[in-house]
Amino acid sequence: MVKYLNIKVKLSIDYSTFRIYCNNNPNSRKVVNIIDLKQSTLAETEHFVSKAGENPYRARQIRQWIFHRGVCDFGSMTDLSKSLRDRLAHIASVTCLKQIGKTESADGTIKLAFELSDSAIIESVWIPEEKRKTLCISTQAGCKMGCRFCLTGKSGFIRNLSAAEIVDQVICARKSVPGGRVTNLVLMGMGEPLDNYENTFKALKVITEPDAGLVGARKITLSTAGVVPGIMKIADDFPRVKLAVSINAPNDDLRNELMPINRKYPLARLQNALKTFPAPKGKRITLEYVMLKGVNDSENNAIELSEFAAKDFPAKINLIPFNPCPGAPFDRPDRPEIEKFRDILVNRGHNVFIRESRGNDILAACGQLSRSIGGRDTA
Ligand code: SAH
Ligand code: SF4
Repeated sequence: MVKYLNIKVKLSIDYSTFRIYCNNNPNSRKVVNIIDLKQSTLAETEHFVSKAGENPYRARQIRQWIFHRGVCDFGSMTDLSKSLRDRLAHIASVTCLKQIGKTESADGTIKLAFELSDSAIIESVWIPEEKRKTLCISTQAGCKMGCRFCLTGKSGFIRNLSAAEIVDQVICARKSVPGGRVTNLVLMGMGEPLDNYENTFKALKVITEPDAGLVGARKITLSTAGVVPGIMKIADDFPRVKLAVSINAPNDDLRNELMPINRKYPLARLQNALKTFPAPKGKRITLEYVMLKGVNDSENNAIELSEFAAKDFPAKINLIPFNPCPGAPFDRPDRPEIEKFRDILVNRGHNVFIRESRGNDILAACGQLSRSIGGRDTA
């Protein structure tokens, strides 16, 4: 319990909106953020509610309001008694992101911007397809990894998001997008999820808790620049969550240049980690490869990438034509060049897709998210 409280105190100071007061002080009270409970499972919320002297059954009602209806004000939870609402308002809180922007692309993609309690700004992107409605969420404000082709990387690192801030992007998006549907989730927005492991883990626990009704583990993809220890951990903690790895360069010399993280976890180590990643039937690791004209798009690069991908793990390869971002000294290759690169891989037996990013016109595509809000604001 002491350890638990320590963690809460640290979180409250560093990242979140909730406050902790010392229990021994008769004039003090403890305010617990319901979404940021240890893992915010139903059982844990029940425990919290019964410790507050209420019937644990109320936990389901409270969670319905928070997760299904996106209500963060206890006063509006009208099927709870007035006294319980008042008591909750006194002892608990719910993180509520402040939406400050909503930009719509010609292709239906919607970029949402949120301001956090300390004024940091993060973005999420909703990508509608015929059946699938995918939400791309952020795990950090900014990113430490410094990949040279990425706007998030170029704008630097501000801080990790708390678990509640990660979860709340899903809840808020459902309130804000047409039809209110989010069927799939990708952790591919701002930041490196495995560089914020503890909070990403907690957020995934909350999101995949069945009664929360958000998104199931099989419909979630986590994208990483290659944080090897995190890959091993996520494989154990969430074997059903899909993994995408941003390769982007098929040899260490080039990868060291484009992605500084490669100096710490070079390609051979990454390859070994991917070999141990569990791959239940039908589940492949996605290798993402941002195509940069004259930098990583040669015939030889395609052969190197094929050799990397042929090492004992089931993989599909997504080729992502570079999305221009201000100040990055790169271009996207011409379409025939990309197709030639793809054909080399296909002829060597790989599953390859060319992924045109959505929401390009509103800077909502891969690598274009940053702390500034651009585009047409319809909020
Ligand atoms: N940090 C994680 C997830 C966020 S980046 C990661 O790196 O995987 C999400 C994806 O956007 C990555 O595959 C990254 O390689 C890609 N990306 C970054 N900048 C890009 C750009 N300018 N054009 C196209 N894709 C980009
Ligand atoms: Fe960070 Fe991913 Fe961008 Fe690299 S590509 S800087 S890891 S967000």
